[in-house]
Amino acid sequence: MNERDSEQVAQMFTEGGYTVTKDEFEADAILVNTCSVRDQAEQKALGKMGSMVRHRQKRPHVVYGFMGCMAQSRGNELFDNIPHLDVVVGTQKYHKVFEYVDSILQTRMERRMDDLKLTYKGDHICDIDEEKDSQNTIKDHTVESIEPATFVSIMQGCNMKCSYCIVPDTRGRERGRPIADIVEECKDLVARGVKEVTLLGQIVNLYGRTEFPKVDGKSPFVQLLEAVHAIDGLERIRFTSPHPIGYRDDLVEAFTYLPKLCSHIHFPMQSGSDRILKAMRRPYKNEKFVEIIKKMKAARPDMAITTDIIVGFPGETEEDFMDTLNTVKELEFDNCFVFRYSQRRNTPAADMLEQHSEKTKEDRNQRLLAVVNEIAQRKNNALVGSVQEVLCTGPSKNNPNTLTSRTPQNKIVIMEGNPDRLVGKIMKVRIDECTGFTLYGTPIIESIED
Ligand code: SAH
Ligand code: SF4
Repeated sequence: MNERDSEQVAQMFTEGGYTVTKDEFEADAILVNTCSVRDQAEQKALGKMGSMVRHRQKRPHVVYGFMGCMAQSRGNELFDNIPHLDVVVGTQKYHKVFEYVDSILQTRMERRMDDLKLTYKGDHICDIDEEKDSQNTIKDHTVESIEPATFVSIMQGCNMKCSYCIVPDTRGRERGRPIADIVEECKDLVARGVKEVTLLGQIVNLYGRTEFPKVDGKSPFVQLLEAVHAIDGLERIRFTSPHPIGYRDDLVEAFTYLPKLCSHIHFPMQSGSDRILKAMRRPYKNEKFVEIIKKMKAARPDMAITTDIIVGFPGETEEDFMDTLNTVKELEFDNCFVFRYSQRRNTPAADMLEQHSEKTKEDRNQRLLAVVNEIAQRKNNALVGSVQEVLCTGPSKNNPNTLTSRTPQNKIVIMEGNPDRLVGKIMKVRIDECTGFTLYGTPIIESIED
């Protein structure tokens, strides 16, 4: 989601005549888009910006800014600790970043003509207000960001109040974009070579529930899926993340008649213990979560399921943790993101008694990861020798001489081949070997569509 927001900001700078650079020593503006979900992410962003102070001494005209969740939750206080910071822009104001940065930069450039040694102070901008319809502003893509598989933001905010989570505070109330606008964005992407879209939201299956009516018993989200599915040339559709609340049969059924929906859902469970789910204010029981997964596997037998789990939530006993561990064994997730509980400001869980030590959290993290990794390895081993259909998305990040691709189950397959011929193509590959995270394969050349 943050990446998608950053792209929007980058595109506005490009349209305004700027160039995006990876070299911070060349940049006239350095913006850090921040996540607040865990403390580690905030500390990393603060450390990065703090270390820029030396940079400012060499290039005094540069504009430094924080955007996103941490900007939203900390606002003006960020200027107290980071004197060279110029701009703080919240999550509903991404579309204003260009205007703010450009105006400061123009003023500085003009002043610089008069005095090269000038250091600049006093032109801070902090904008963390709410803005009606801001969800409709995340809709443009930079040329570089358009890959064969691209993200599309369909909504912003969250109306839940999970007791550990800072997102409702930083992202505001749930707001959906109109179906027609989303479809138009997807059509435009397809015209520019995109084959796969991932629809993004905090709880995607609740998309539009407060703005748009049900039609023929179908939720606005299922209506959206049908409308996106009808786009010619679009081959694959994914979404992330769904929530057990509002995961109804119309969505399960959609997987039986919308073949472009990929056989994978990332379905956050958080805990396998009903007691902890209740303390987390996640309004479902483990049984309901398991039941939805069983329905999804019945609708699509090749369905892969991944999840998010928090370990070491305040008051989580060894027994609660074992409930989580046993559910992971029972459901055999294809992969899990395991998070050590992180205390977040202004959240109810932060004030709960019985906070766990880092040692306990780390111990549970390691024990859970061992089970998760063993299952993932076993599932990948079973695919060696099989033929999978993949979408090739570009050079692999780890080894740019190889190409990366994804199966419908969202498994990464690395292969060798000519990028000009393979990138953006859906093709069959034979799986030769694997690790727990990655499959390695060989394209079956005859199958490549032109
Ligand atoms: N809206 C999504 C989750 C968005 S946040 C949902 O509810 O499913 C992504 C993940 O970060 C969450 O699923 C959760 O596992 C993790 N997370 C959120 N707050 C956290 C915290 N305080 N400590 C540790 N992990 C957290
Ligand atoms: Fe956070 Fe819960 Fe909303 Fe997800 S559903 S964003 S975890 S409050």
